[in-house]
Amino acid sequence: MDGYLERNNNLRAMGFADYSEYLSSALWLLIKSRVLSRDNGRCRICGDFARTVHHMDYSLHVLRGNRDDKLLSVCDGCHQKVEFTGPNLDVKLSMEEAVRKTKKLLEIGSKQRKPKRRKGGGKLWIGLSYKAKHLLRKGRK
Ligand SMILES: [Zn+2]
Repeated sequence: MDGYLERNNNLRAMGFADYSEYLSSALWLLIKSRVLSRDNGRCRICGDFARTVHHMDYSLHVLRGNRDDKLLSVCDGCHQKVEFTGPNLDVKLSMEEAVRKTKKLLEIGSKQRKPKRRKGGGKLWIGLSYKAKHLLRKGRK
């Protein structure tokens, strides 16, 4: 069965009319804030600021909030990339293709985000907020 069809069936079984009703529910807002704070508000693919949570799976467990491991914080740019294709990213991928593409981008992202050695002390700066970086810089003097 197509992943999106399965999603809609599961949502109806949970009492939601459709996906947009689910996305505005208290349940989803709770799950989303939990996942974003787990990922420190950073995109799991590129490390940028994230405000979206992407589904790798729309099973009842995930939709009910019992499987956060199937959810990823992503930035708007990466979210477009994992769900759409084509030169203008305007062709929606199937659920299965989107999952494949997400895994691929996660792999590329994790390679690119290897800790970078810096002259100062080799700290991992990526993922730190501006304020944290500022404090670290001050502490070094
Ligand atoms: Zn990203």
